[in-house]
Amino acid sequence: MSELLLNHLAGRPQAGTGAGTALFDPVLGTELARVDAGGLDLAGGFAFARAEGGRALRALTYAQRGALLAAVVKVLQANRDRYDEISTANSGTVKNDTAIDVDGGIYTLGTYAKMGETLGDRRHLLDGEAARLGKDPAFQSQHVLVPARGVALFINAFNFPGWGLWEKAGPALLSGVPVIVKPATATAWLTQQMVQDVNAAGILPPGALSVVCGSSAGLLDQLQPFDVVSFTGSAETAAIIRSHPAIARGSVRVNIEADSINSALLLRGEAAGSEAFDLLAKEVAREMTQKSGQKCTAIRRVFVPEALYAQAAEAIAARLAKTTVGNPRNDSVRMGALVSRAQLSAVRAGLEELKQHAEVLHDGASHALVDADPAVACCVGPTLLGARNPDASPQVHDLEVFGPVATLMPYRDLAHGLALVRRGQGSLVASLYGSDAGSLGATALELADSHGRVHVVSPDVAVLHTGHGNVMPQSLHGGPGRAGGGEELGGVRALNFYHRRAAVQAATPVLSQLN
Ligand code: NAP
Repeated sequence: MSELLLNHLAGRPQAGTGAGTALFDPVLGTELARVDAGGLDLAGGFAFARAEGGRALRALTYAQRGALLAAVVKVLQANRDRYDEISTANSGTVKNDTAIDVDGGIYTLGTYAKMGETLGDRRHLLDGEAARLGKDPAFQSQHVLVPARGVALFINAFNFPGWGLWEKAGPALLSGVPVIVKPATATAWLTQQMVQDVNAAGILPPGALSVVCGSSAGLLDQLQPFDVVSFTGSAETAAIIRSHPAIARGSVRVNIEADSINSALLLRGEAAGSEAFDLLAKEVAREMTQKSGQKCTAIRRVFVPEALYAQAAEAIAARLAKTTVGNPRNDSVRMGALVSRAQLSAVRAGLEELKQHAEVLHDGASHALVDADPAVACCVGPTLLGARNPDASPQVHDLEVFGPVATLMPYRDLAHGLALVRRGQGSLVASLYGSDAGSLGATALELADSHGRVHVVSPDVAVLHTGHGNVMPQSLHGGPGRAGGGEELGGVRALNFYHRRAAVQAATPVLSQLN
């Protein structure tokens, strides 16, 4: 039997008492480890985190907590090779894709470590200036932000077991709020190993960082009014979480990062073969294949002026054709696997559904797998679909195939293009391609209400831009509507979620004590 991975709760490693759920290598099909949360005293674990972890973290200043995060970064860097092995085995990722998850997570945590230094030797934050409440300035209102006195429960998706932990834990721990993470079962190993390493290093106070691997049963029941929940995953699970009685009753603060049918749009006035045109083709091909398309931010819909539809199809397909797919351990492979058999089935089914409403411009089935058994490996080649009449194909604006699949569509004029983008009902990110700064700026503002981020690619930033799907800690991550309505990261803004805002109304000498 494979190794049973330990949970970490109430300040100590704890084994589940059940038989466990197996984690598999999605390329080789072998069993890697098991996870189990059966028999854990969840109520005791949550209480310990609130009482011990929370108290110890809140006793520190932002600068001191930032220093702890910097020390955690060092632990993660020291174990980097191990994380690489786990990602290859459990997520089926090639080295570059592992780096997005592992190094991306470490970088994001490092960013919040530095922010702690900047925030300095304080234990709360001021929000804006004091405001007079009447004619006499002697009595004023000052808003303050203080750390939430609860736990932050993270329920994470399978695609980013490393980054998904640290992009949330960085802001939470810096704010002084203890973390309990429940990773998605299929890829839980990396999260579990990182938490185990950090706790073994003894950097964080007991109760500050816990992990529960396996079933989510009973977790939400533990929530109390001052806890917060940050969820990343499907819209279906998000709906269950939002309506959970403990959350509804206690007004527990919830952040939802759900799925999203993100767009890329080439502005009019760019010829086929122009720099902007090529940048679009390059970015679409990269977004489709990075992490085998298993990124919530990946480009799913591509809009080009109608005269360029055929050339865009050709340019993107030519790039996709060069993608070698298969076993990530083979150096010639550029795209590894989907994370599980379940995901493979879901991607195949979704692709079949979309094919009913679109033509195939590049067929993923044309990619022979390298060093992998097609009967076992959860690998699929990238498929570019095309919908020549996007107004009449609601499915392409609605169905998220969480794999290397995107749909190309023509638009008549900008108003039509923007209307099509908006049919995504709110997305995490849209990217724009063009060379006219005026049009790009105006179009970015047009899309800002329905997107958490608008990524603008023009020839002057061809080698500087950070990538459509790459989530940078400095920028907001989240999106309205279908994307879940959440907000994460965005620099210091991320701390708001883990703080409580209150207005203190008092005499000026009292308010001066708050600084
Ligand atoms: P999922 O099935 O909703 O699972 C997400 C997490 O919720 C997992 O940890 C899962 O645990 C847990 N869960 C399942 N049922 C639950 C319940 N009843 N109560 C509490 N927790 C529960 O989503 P997924 O299939 O793993 O993730 C893929 C989706 O996530 C895609 O649609 C993608 O677009 C989205 N995503 C969004 C973002 C973003 O930042 N916006 C990032 C990544 C992914 P188990 O694994 O144990 O079932």
